[in-house]
Amino acid sequence: MPGHILALDQGTTSSRALVFDERGAVLGMAQHEFTQHFPRPGWVEHDPREIWESQLLAAREALAQAGVRAEETLALGITNQRETSLIWDRASGEPIHPAIVWQSRQTAAICDEWRARGLTERVREITGLVIDAYFSASKIRWLLDEVPGAQERAERGDLAFGTVDTWLIWQLTGGAHLTDETNASRTMLYDIAARSWSAELLEAFGIPASLLPEVRPSSSDFGTARAEFLGAPIPIRGVAGDQQAALFGQGCVNPGDAKNTYGTGCFLLSNTGAAKPASEHGLLGTVAASCDGPAFALEGSVFVAGAAVQWLRDGLGLIATAAESEAVARSVLDTGGVYLVPAFAGLGAPYWDQDARGALVGLTRGTERGHIVRATLEAIAYQSRDLVECIAADAGRPLEALRVDGGATHNAFLMQFQADILGIPVHRPKNLEVTALGAAGLAGIGAGFWADPAQFVAATSSDLDVFEPSMPEVERTERYEGWRNAVARTRSQLA
Ligand code: ADP
Repeated sequence: MPGHILALDQGTTSSRALVFDERGAVLGMAQHEFTQHFPRPGWVEHDPREIWESQLLAAREALAQAGVRAEETLALGITNQRETSLIWDRASGEPIHPAIVWQSRQTAAICDEWRARGLTERVREITGLVIDAYFSASKIRWLLDEVPGAQERAERGDLAFGTVDTWLIWQLTGGAHLTDETNASRTMLYDIAARSWSAELLEAFGIPASLLPEVRPSSSDFGTARAEFLGAPIPIRGVAGDQQAALFGQGCVNPGDAKNTYGTGCFLLSNTGAAKPASEHGLLGTVAASCDGPAFALEGSVFVAGAAVQWLRDGLGLIATAAESEAVARSVLDTGGVYLVPAFAGLGAPYWDQDARGALVGLTRGTERGHIVRATLEAIAYQSRDLVECIAADAGRPLEALRVDGGATHNAFLMQFQADILGIPVHRPKNLEVTALGAAGLAGIGAGFWADPAQFVAATSSDLDVFEPSMPEVERTERYEGWRNAVARTRSQLA
């Protein structure tokens, strides 16, 4: 079938749009950054109007750049920054407050209170998540508490809640109130096994059900973008949160397939198939994008990955650009026994120690700039191995290969070291636009452009750069033990 798919990729710092053909090639791309608001330390907010306007502009420009008209676009897919929360008035469409961004810590006290009320276990059983300010529920509670009259208006059914996908669908369709299952699974209100909003948690948090959008599978009918926006009506047929879209775009559609995205932090997701996952190792259980039946994933994240490279550049001035880290790391044979543990904001899985702080260990009089830069890149790989170990332990079998994407995967030293320290091949697709491709895939399958996930993956999979492990097993074990020892020294309470 001839035609094109338009993907909207609404991220934390910019709105992007890409036009794909049936082989997954990018024909046009546009991107607009938008303003980050920091009203107080630790708070992060976005202007919902700016999100929508920057996204619409990017979509128009991407189509123009591709030389593709809206009539030739079979379907539109949306992928988005997850968990970021908005509430608006159903009648006027006006947001009652700026969007509260996933990173924002302004609702930490609400989460403390919920933990103190003993809700941790039920939240984990129902949603797969830990109680944390990242997820939408406490942001909704905060908005209903802080905006005068909001709780009453919500109870009267006058307000609508949405994550960013829902906000964009509302705008594009002129008032459809919908979300997909992957985004719903990040609200901390969604029962991932029952595949419905949890009445028990809504009750516990005092959130009226009338606020919530209807939930649909990631590849399904989300209405039609009105002609006034892009020049002709375009059906919206695919929606997924960014990490789930990347998992799909990487072709990780079968149980056991895993991908790691290396950006500011790292997000490792492993497809676990139709059975709801329960981690024994501190990973989150979440919904994976699917076209028909349920699909789940285990998710683990590294808080500080590429951000540690930014710290070398901006905090220490050891490198001029992130890319320079590769040459500087290669200028030394090894780290000379130096380990950096970038626990700048505590440690996540498998340690879960929010009071841990970073450390540089093993320094000698001979330590040079190259050793520290190299240790920083290696730390990204060690932290990712920590997550891979958790996923393998939960699955009861080792990973066979790791698919990778994200800005820091341009660093070939890092990718080779990652393969060496894991002892499995690392696969980097040449087309690194996997997040937008995943959204395009879901939309294209929804529109019949590709028959099913297998056909989408076969049609669009790009060539891979393969990094094979070459480090001897003894050395791999020794170095990883060194890392674990270094981590132990950063713990808030010595084990
Ligand atoms: P995000 O989506 O989180 O903004 P990106 O995928 O755009 O992240 O990747 C940017 C991150 O990757 C930055 O933290 C940057 O320091 C890091 N990065 C980019 N290029 C390199 C490189 N060649 N080597 C190491 N780190 C890099």
